[in-house]
Amino acid sequence: MTDSDETPVTIIGLGLMGQALAGAFLKAGHPTTVWNRTSAKADQLVADGAQLAPTVGAALKAGELTVICVTDYPALYELLGAHEAELAGATLINLTSGSSEQAREAAAWTGRRGARYLDGAIMAIPSVIGTADAMILHSGPQPDFESHATTLGALGTVTYLGADHGLASLYDVAGLAMMWSVLNAWLQGTALLATAGVDAATYAPFAREIATGVAAWLPGYAEQIDAGAFPAEVSALETDARAMEHLIEESEAVGVNADLPKLLKTMADRAIAAGHGGEQYPVLIKEFSKP
Ligand code: NAP
Repeated sequence: MTDSDETPVTIIGLGLMGQALAGAFLKAGHPTTVWNRTSAKADQLVADGAQLAPTVGAALKAGELTVICVTDYPALYELLGAHEAELAGATLINLTSGSSEQAREAAAWTGRRGARYLDGAIMAIPSVIGTADAMILHSGPQPDFESHATTLGALGTVTYLGADHGLASLYDVAGLAMMWSVLNAWLQGTALLATAGVDAATYAPFAREIATGVAAWLPGYAEQIDAGAFPAEVSALETDARAMEHLIEESEAVGVNADLPKLLKTMADRAIAAGHGGEQYPVLIKEFSKP
């Protein structure tokens, strides 16, 4: 035992991420109990001052809150399922990645067994956990988040999104959509420029400027989406569609992949066929919102 004034915490799951989470709690002075299916992964943490719980049940009872970070939701149920009785009165912060529906189901499942439950999503890599650069999102009952926000702050920059347990997962995948879309657009341009002998490092600063400039449009475009009105203040969708055709033609002419530009054009063409060619780009939300 330690004589720390910090809240005692438990971490279940000591993979790459779980070890980083436990390490950040230890560094912040929290008495930290750990459990992992493969107990050898706790060795370094124990050397650094963590307590290794002999069972999941003992781990759940050791901390005021229990952070769980395992591969996926089936793993979560496998490890908690054998210890249902010990869940009563526990506060669980589940940072395991999954879908919004899995998060809502886990909230209901743990709630029926008497536990408090917050879902979370880690938008960071293990090496930045414990620093302000680690963005960690939480959703679930606000009083439960507020009770533990200071403790969770040892892990990074924690943000509360709302009472719906599915929100953290939805923000997580929305972030992934943004990340891959920006990266793919950059790769398209990099491949195009390589055909003229421009290397990736030369193009990258230009690409970053474009991406930053486009990002600045988002709040204004969001207002159009929320208002459901898309006046063409800057350009009309049909003007964008002509530029997309040009991107497809150029890609094909210089012999680089045109799948991404064709996908963009397909979406725009559908919106134009539905009568939205004279409106501004965010009118495409109507296409993105369909199944
Ligand atoms: P990892 O290194 O593969 O660790 C997986 C953890 O889950 C291990 O502790 C493993 O135990 C445990 N586990 C798997 N199946 C289990 C089962 N049936 N019963 C009990 N424990 C089980 O993965 P990770 O990188 O730590 O990722 C963990 C979670 O964090 C994932 O949901 C991941 O998407 C999320 N995440 C990770 C990162 C990242 O950069 N690593 C970033 C954001 C989010 P054993 O040690 O016994 O195998």
